[in-house]
This record gives sequence, C-alpha cells and structure tokens, in this order.
Amino acid sequence: MEDNRPGSGYRRRAQLKIRIKADRGSEFPCLVCGRMCKAHDFQEKTWRHLNFFQHHCYITASVPRTNCPEHGVKMVKVPWAHKGTRFTMLFEQAAMVLVREMPVAAASRIMGINDKRLWRIVFHYVNKAMSRLDLSQVQGIGIDETSSGKGHRYVTIFIDLDRKDRPVLFVTEGKGRETIEAFKKYLCAAWGTSYLTPVKLKYFFFKNS
Ligand SMILES: [Zn+2]
Repeated sequence: MEDNRPGSGYRRRAQLKIRIKADRGSEFPCLVCGRMCKAHDFQEKTWRHLNFFQHHCYITASVPRTNCPEHGVKMVKVPWAHKGTRFTMLFEQAAMVLVREMPVAAASRIMGINDKRLWRIVFHYVNKAMSRLDLSQVQGIGIDETSSGKGHRYVTIFIDLDRKDRPVLFVTEGKGRETIEAFKKYLCAAWGTSYLTPVKLKYFFFKNS
C-alpha cells in the first residue's frame, strides 16, 4: 500500500499497487499464430482493478512483445484485461452490473471513475453484444416509444416480436421517423445494404404498424 499524494490523509488516499513480472527466459505465444517466442522487449502498462476494501487497486505489468518471424513485433495478450482498456475485466464486469441497475453517472461515482470512461466501457460491451446478434431469423419488429425521466426525452425500442427471451434489437434516443432511419443505419452496418431491399424493409415495418 502506498500513499502517493503528499499531505493527503492516508486512510482516504491509500492505493494498493500490484506489480506483475514475467519470469526471465519465458516464452510467449505470438498474438496471430500462437508460435512460442522469446520476449523481444517489454512495455509497462497499468490497469485499474477492483477495490481492495475502500482503496483503489492498480495492476502494473511489464507486458512482453514477441517478435515472430512471420508476424513481426506484437504485444502479448494479458489474461486479465481486453486490448486497449485501462481496466481489468473484473473491474469492467462490476461496472456493467451496476449500469444495469442505475444511471451511468451514479455507477461511475460508486466505481470511482469518470463517467466518460464508464460510458466507453458500456459502449465496448454493448457493441460486442450487438455484433453477436443474429438478425437472420427476424420476421417482425415491434417499435415502442417511451419517454425517459420527467422531461421530454424520448427513447425508441425495437424488438423482435417472435423472441420471448431478450427481444431487444436496438434502442435509440428520439421518436418517430428519425429513429427508424437510425435503425436502418444499424441494420445496414450489421448486415450490409443488400440485406435491406425495399421489399424487406416494407415487411419489417408494415407488419407491426
Ligand atoms: Zn506469428
């Protein structure tokens, strides 16, 4: 445990810092082909991890880069975090559990992170889940407009009418025609424009109007 902010109260500011090092002479798999290679060099990276009691916890590791004869220099994948994030998977999981139950701003206060960073985590997982959605069997889509909170902020939800379990396909702010345009854009991005022939679009929207 260390207090890296001089003059601050120890109890409030203390952080737990965990340092991970690879054994000397170890070999690591190339990110592309899995071929075992000696470390070419190391790059230091730090991730925020779940709190240790009330203290923020950070993991710092010298992450090896391999130099595969076929694929060149690549950074090894660490088992505790996704590529490009500054949080461990367990931290992100805990944040996502909170986000299911409360607004992002409230969840970010509990997790002790900036809400912009939490939004980035949310977008990462939502995009991942959306990319796995199989829309090939969708026959009819229900559109539900609802207002969020007290103001006049509308949210439109698109659901698969034939699916009982997790039927939500797409959610967007606003109501009316603009939301259908947003949904079409999403379908085009996910399935390509060839999927959205005028005939199919008619079928999608007229069936449920
Ligand atoms: Zn390789």
